[in-house]
Amino acid sequence: MIINIDGRELEAEKGQTILQVATENGIDIPTLCHHEALEPYGACRICIVEIFRGGRSKIVASCLYPAEEGLEVKTSSPRVLTNRKMILELLLARCPNNEVIKDLALQMGIEQPSFRPEYLEDNDCIVCGLCVRACEQVVGVSAISLVNRGITKEPASPFLESSKDCIGCGSCYYICPTGAIKMEDKEDTRVIYNWEVEFKLKKCKVCGNYWAPERQLDYIRENWNLPEDFFDICPNCK
Ligand code: SF4
Repeated sequence: MIINIDGRELEAEKGQTILQVATENGIDIPTLCHHEALEPYGACRICIVEIFRGGRSKIVASCLYPAEEGLEVKTSSPRVLTNRKMILELLLARCPNNEVIKDLALQMGIEQPSFRPEYLEDNDCIVCGLCVRACEQVVGVSAISLVNRGITKEPASPFLESSKDCIGCGSCYYICPTGAIKMEDKEDTRVIYNWEVEFKLKKCKVCGNYWAPERQLDYIRENWNLPEDFFDICPNCK
């Protein structure tokens, strides 16, 4: 099928979203909560675009909206820019000190939060759910979830206690778009502060470097039926 994005006629396959078609063709649509390896979620709404059909237009999240034959899409129409700016104003009020959000806001011409100081929070998390989805859909562990509602909603371990299911893989840390998850490898120990967990790191028998949490390696070994000594040597030395 053919869809028109920003005046360009583009080939799209059935099942693709507007965001996927745009990205494939080098058209930049900003997003924070989207990752190709995960189901689309539409949490951050920064990827909104305006679609036109039958003389009408509406604003949709491009990460969720499917490409349709003959669809006309504008990624930065005045209506899109006004709405995207409003979304960024809200994110900036929640995360006024976060560099990623500040940069995005600046790109939209927002230098300072427009809310009064007493309404500003000091958060890094935008509650996009990427960490929770990665843990569930990629790692297959579901060690964390989104808890609470409204402005108190946040990713957390069960009962806000040290997560018992976490294997320390760090996927949540690596995928977080705003650096809200704090993880540190200190000598032979990995700490993930958000979930209050600590893991002993495996030492490579050849180079002596600590390279991955033992719990994560055990999890992989058991699930893939690998030999006991499979992870004795790190990938660099293999
Ligand atoms: S580090 Fe723990 S919480 Fe984060 S993705 Fe891995 S298993 Fe899930």
